[in-house]
Amino acid sequence: MSGATKQMIVSTNGLTKSYGGRTVLDSVDIRVPEGAIYGFIGANGAGKTTTLKILMGLISATSGEATVMGMERGSLPVKPLDGIAYLPDVPEINSWLTAREALLLFGSISGVDRNTAPDRAESLLKLVGLENTQLKVGGFSRGMKQRLGIAVALMGSPRLLILDEPTSALDPIGRAQVLEIIESLRGKTTVLFSSHLLADVQQVCSHVGILNRGQLLSQGTLEEVIASAPQPETSIRLSGQQASIVRARNLLERELPEITIQSQANSLQNAYTHLVKGRNS
Ligand code: ATP
Repeated sequence: MSGATKQMIVSTNGLTKSYGGRTVLDSVDIRVPEGAIYGFIGANGAGKTTTLKILMGLISATSGEATVMGMERGSLPVKPLDGIAYLPDVPEINSWLTAREALLLFGSISGVDRNTAPDRAESLLKLVGLENTQLKVGGFSRGMKQRLGIAVALMGSPRLLILDEPTSALDPIGRAQVLEIIESLRGKTTVLFSSHLLADVQQVCSHVGILNRGQLLSQGTLEEVIASAPQPETSIRLSGQQASIVRARNLLERELPEITIQSQANSLQNAYTHLVKGRNS
């Protein structure tokens, strides 16, 4: 194992998965550093859920290696792993429970100390903004279910939290709330989450990996991946009153040069488009 791999909480080498001769993951090498918020980006069918399921030990790989917190993944059965929590894209929580009851139930199933569980549940309810609701889960909105799902996943204080498309089915407010929760975990829990919503990933992630049709096209810190593609430039030519004001302030230039700025707003979108373009035609 190399020195670089040792600091990784998740790493894969040549991870490959085929279904009936069709390769859906093709020699993927993922590196998730401890402490990262890692955005695993890919379009529908890119292979994100397949990868996450292999990491969780829910399915086997066809070939290659995967290591999660120093334990091997990839072939079944896997050894149970403490300190990891997984939230599928549609979390199913018993509809007749309140949020508090769901947390306490999950806490007892996963071995959380009975004396500390109520306090832990209370602080998680606050973290996800559900401390005041008396509704049962059956009456929750999608966003509330997703936030409760994250709280349930955090009940056992995992070192690694894996979320499959946590914001994809939510409205803008629900998305913002879930992103805020993920942001609040920075420095405390390593988070690996899949998404095709690039603005969400750009907002909270320290690291990203771009998966396209089973192949990892780019990976690194957010800044590295953004820098791997030329950024679009926008030229602005001032005219009329704005130009007169700028001329009056500068005094030196009678003719104003065109001003060129680089937009950072959609830079991950730009890098993604640049990397994927031409590969999917
Ligand atoms: P989405 O965002 O739509 O969930 P994804 O990136 O998570 O997409 P996967 O669910 O990993 O993609 O699927 C990758 C490919 O593997 C898809 O083409 C899918 O049809 C195929 N696939 C997944 N599971 C199976 C299975 N059990 N049998 C056959 N093919 C499968």
